[in-house]
Parts: sequence; structure tokens; C-alpha cells
Amino acid sequence: MRAFLCTLAAFLPVFAQAPPPVYVCGRAESAIVIDGRGDDAAWQGARELSPLRDIEGAAIPHHCRIKMVWDDDYLYILADMDEEHLWATLTERDSVIYHDPDFEVFIDPDGDGLNYIELEINALNTVWDLFITRPYRFDDPHILHDWDMRGLKHAVHLRGTLNHPDDTDAGWSVELAIPWSSITSHAHQPRRSQAPAPGSSMRFNFSRVNWQVRPAPGSPTGYEKLPAPESNHVWAPTGKVNIHLPEHWGRVVFSEHPAGEWAAALPAPEDATRLALYRVLNTQLGHRGRHGSFSRELPLPEGMQMSFPAQDFFVLTATCPHTGTSMRLDSEGRFHATAPQEPRPELYLWVHGNTKRSETEWSARFRSYAEAGIGTVIIDGSAERLAELTPLARREGLRVFAWLWALNRPGDETALKHPGWYAVNAEGKSCHLSQHRPFVEYYQFLCPNNADVKQYLLEQVRILAAIPGLSGIQADYMRLPDVELPRALWSKYGLDMSTPSPEFDYCYCSTCRQKFSTGSQPAGDWKEFRLQSVAELFNTLAAEIRRHGLIAACAVFPSPELAARMVHQDWSRFQADLVLPMTYHHFYSKQAEWVIETTKRATEQTQRRIPLAPAIHLPDVPAEELPNLLAALRAAGVPGIALFSDEEITPEHLKALHLFR
Ligand SMILES: [Zn+2]
Repeated sequence: MRAFLCTLAAFLPVFAQAPPPVYVCGRAESAIVIDGRGDDAAWQGARELSPLRDIEGAAIPHHCRIKMVWDDDYLYILADMDEEHLWATLTERDSVIYHDPDFEVFIDPDGDGLNYIELEINALNTVWDLFITRPYRFDDPHILHDWDMRGLKHAVHLRGTLNHPDDTDAGWSVELAIPWSSITSHAHQPRRSQAPAPGSSMRFNFSRVNWQVRPAPGSPTGYEKLPAPESNHVWAPTGKVNIHLPEHWGRVVFSEHPAGEWAAALPAPEDATRLALYRVLNTQLGHRGRHGSFSRELPLPEGMQMSFPAQDFFVLTATCPHTGTSMRLDSEGRFHATAPQEPRPELYLWVHGNTKRSETEWSARFRSYAEAGIGTVIIDGSAERLAELTPLARREGLRVFAWLWALNRPGDETALKHPGWYAVNAEGKSCHLSQHRPFVEYYQFLCPNNADVKQYLLEQVRILAAIPGLSGIQADYMRLPDVELPRALWSKYGLDMSTPSPEFDYCYCSTCRQKFSTGSQPAGDWKEFRLQSVAELFNTLAAEIRRHGLIAACAVFPSPELAARMVHQDWSRFQADLVLPMTYHHFYSKQAEWVIETTKRATEQTQRRIPLAPAIHLPDVPAEELPNLLAALRAAGVPGIALFSDEEITPEHLKALHLFR
């Protein structure tokens, strides 16, 4: 047991460093009746929040499904919890509800870490609501215990019997309608008493407190608590058994789109800088607790400043190296962030992880990328390789995505043992066999509809997700082989691809043919069937990636319409947190302006529901032209720009990136 605890403790700092989760809250499309059941139509399409974790960060079995939707009057929350033993004792409003098993909601409307709302509810539908103006980390916390959330509607539904130890229960659910007026009018924002503006966000956390019990016939509930601490399972772990560290809470973005439609939001790359400010604040509060005053000699992280405008009062300032947002946190806990006029897109760089280099050489390279303003590296290679390189990149301040080769898996020894896994063309020839592969030897495409392929790829996702310190997984080759190659490549292969050829048209394997003829697709819409098959496979993998708290990204062809036509990849259907359209203009015999035009068109086609990081093929862009292209993309409002790749990036490119900072 001791060894197990030590191992777990060694991982805790890694968990605690995971960026706070993000959830996109869609609009309710119809009325919701607050009866605790959550069976209203408006809930059906809404997505679940990422699974709860232990408050210190460890993953736990999935037992609590939370959804949120909103309309002009209310924020709605539904939590459905598994529970074998339903019990509760407290019936008086504003009792200390967490002495019973409960569900808790925390809302920091302006995200400044002060003036936030706490709401607790038990299985008897008893509520404790309170307003915290200054959290407990300060010597003089300020809590308004008699504050009431006016107009709150709340209900619980029990799937089982309460206080009845003789049977096994299934669980309980909580349904809440919180009036916007009660959230925003009390948050020191007198003018924001109504629903939030679409696209704006608030900080939230959710917690489920549970106690271990055993049957005790004499007690009022029929149960008695075991002498063990309660479990605290939360949406956004704080790294400590203390929920009142609001800087770690997750971000909920209020989307103008209906809850049933996919809309993604990226975790802010500036969270790392924000949390660094709070770490210094906590250190200083600890110092004052021990020595009676703040330290003026505290070593600060690079780029952070501390000033003392008054005797016992300091101000910390820092600028996010990725977005240029400047931030300020003072010793009273007031936080403020100012975004630059045009937010700076996050820069991504693909890195070939299998290249042989010493640890020192890798570190030097990662440092040069970070210094040039690159925020995230997308590294390929085995899981072992990624586990070696990830800490080196993180030490230089980079975020790391794993680069997963999805449907094209050249040289995959496991896959090669299963001929039936491979995609088949309209002539019946399989990618499994070397002599039948289209264009190049490394085109070894698998079938998107094969159930074993899906399980195998899910397993690859789980292996990558277990690497500590990863921020995301980026799928590549989430498509079928090219029915149509980019124009500039036709001469290379001596082909005219203006009309589709059966030789390059995949997947006609028996699994696909069978699924198509028995499926629900309209007969004859064979193209549509394959577009949907590829999208569904990505969405399955993306859900698994998010289940591990990671960003689900995908490298795609330049626009959904081009991608659908050329490689059966309609990525407007992808439930991705980020897509990286490979707008490699030379491949299409186009000029750099085409990158901007295509990006704008793709943004419109996806109605801004999917964040884009258009990708630049570095050999096609001389260093002197790079700043202009980056500036034009920034003006187009994309949240990211990707660069291909570390093998092609020159010292001149890196110097040009410095200008972009
Ligand atoms: Zn197939």
C-alpha cells in the first residue's frame, strides 16, 4: 500500500499541472421542466462535461454525468450520479450539506477568483447557497452565509430508495435552473445582470462529495459513516483537497449555437501564466503566515515582475508568451487580464520525434522553438519516444501534442497481421499488399468501418494518453487515400486525376459494402456513407481523447469541401477541439493569398464551430515572406497557425517568428 501511495504522489504534480478543462455550453432548444429527471428534449443533444477526477488530479471511474445548457433567463445544470446506497439527513436550507453525500456547483462569473457562488444540494433536495467574496486562503476570508440564490429552481430524482440499506440503489440526479440575474448581479458587475454574451465565458467547478457508510439499523438513515475521510470528485482538480482555489476551475463558454451542434473551444494557452501568478501569491501568503510579512526577495519565474506600491501590498504582472495577454494579480487576490488588440494565434510545430539526437540537442532545439514564440510541438514517434521527449519540451515551456497516425499506419506490425483491416479499392485491391498500394509504399490505409480497427486505434489513443504531461493528441491521416491528388502532384505520378479512377477510390472492403447495404444511409449515397464513416471514427477517437482531459486535434485537407472531394474527409462534421488544415499552397499551384482565402472560406463553412490552425508548408514560404503571411492569418482571426515541420524550419524562419512575437 505504501509503495502504491508513493507512486501516486509522484504523479500528482503532473495532474495538477493539467490545464483547466473547457466546456462549450449550447443553447436550450426547447423548454426544460425542473423535475430532476432530465428527460426533456433540450437535454438530449447536449454533450457531457469531461469526467470528474479526484480533487488532487487522479483519474477515477466515471460515475457522474453532467450537462449544461442555457437560454436568455436561466442556466440549466443536470447531474446524473451512480450510487448504490442513497442516504441523506439534512432538510433545513443552508445546513452544512456536504455532511451528507451531495452535488456542488461553484460559479466565478468574472473569473477574478473573488466574489463567487457556491451551491450544494443533497438527495432530499435541500440546498445550501452562499456567496464568497474572499476565499479562505486569506487571513480574513469573507463568506455571506445568508445569501440566497433568488429564483433558483431545483429538483432531485432518486433511482432507488432513500435511507434504506436493505436494497441496492441505482443513483440519483439533480436538475437546476439558475436565473442569470442571481449569478451576474451579485458579482460586482452591476451592469451585467442578464444572460452572458455569446462567446463569453465564466469559471465553474462541480464537486461530488461522498462518504463511506455501512448499514446501521438503529440510525435515522439506516447507515453510519465509516471513520474515513470523504471523497471529493471534481470537474477541475485543484491539486489539493481544497476546492476554494478558483484559479484552477474550468472555463464554460456560452455558445450561440443549439446544444446539439458541435462547437469547440480551446483551453487558453494563457492558463499557464495565470496559474504561475497564483503560485507566487500562495507562496507569499505562506511566507506572511510564517514571518509576518511578504518577501521582497522571492525568486520569480522568468518574465514575471513584482512591485510593492504600499508597505504590505504587492502587485504581480506577467505577459502570456503565447497570446500577448498581460495579466495582473495583487496580494488582495484581485486578478485582471488585458488581451492585446488582435490576439496572437498560438504557433504549432510538427516535430519528427524519431530523429536520433542527444537529450542536450533536443533540449536546445525545443528552447530555440520556445524562444521564437512557438507554443506547442506536435511530436510523432512511439509512446516510449514521446515519454522521453515530452518532459524535455515541457521544461522549455512548450505544450506537447502526440501526433497519431490514424488510418494510414505504414509498417504497423500488428495491423499487417490482419489483412482484413485494410482499405480496399473499387477494383477489389487491398492496401495490405505492397503491389496494390496507391502512389507510394507508405500508403497503408486501414478501413474506417472495421470494428477491430476502431478498437485498435482507441487502444493507441489510450497508450498515448497515459504519457504524463501531454496536452493533446493530434490525429493525422483521418481519411481515405486520395481520389484526387493536389494538382501540383499529378505530373509527379504521371496522372490526370480530373475524373475519379476506381484504382484510387477506397473503401470497397466487404465490411463497408455490407454496412452500407444494411445501414440507414439512403441507398446509393455511397460517397455520403464514406464521409460519415470517416467522421464517426474520428468522433469516437476524439471522445476518448477528451475523456483523458486532452485536446482532440486533427490535421486535415485545406477546406471541408476540398477534403471531402479529394480524400473522403468532410471535417465540418468532425467534433474536434482544433483542426489544422494543411493549406500548402504550392501543392495546389497557388500563391500565398490562397492560404488566407481558403482559411476564411473554411471558417465560414464551419460557422466558427471548430477552431482552426491553418498549416504552412515551410519550404514554400521564404523567411522574408513569413511575417506577412502570419500577420494576414492573425488578421483573419484564427486561434492558431501550424508550421510543417522541424525538418524544414531554418534559422531564418525562427528569426522571422521572433518578429511575430
Ligand atoms: Zn472498408
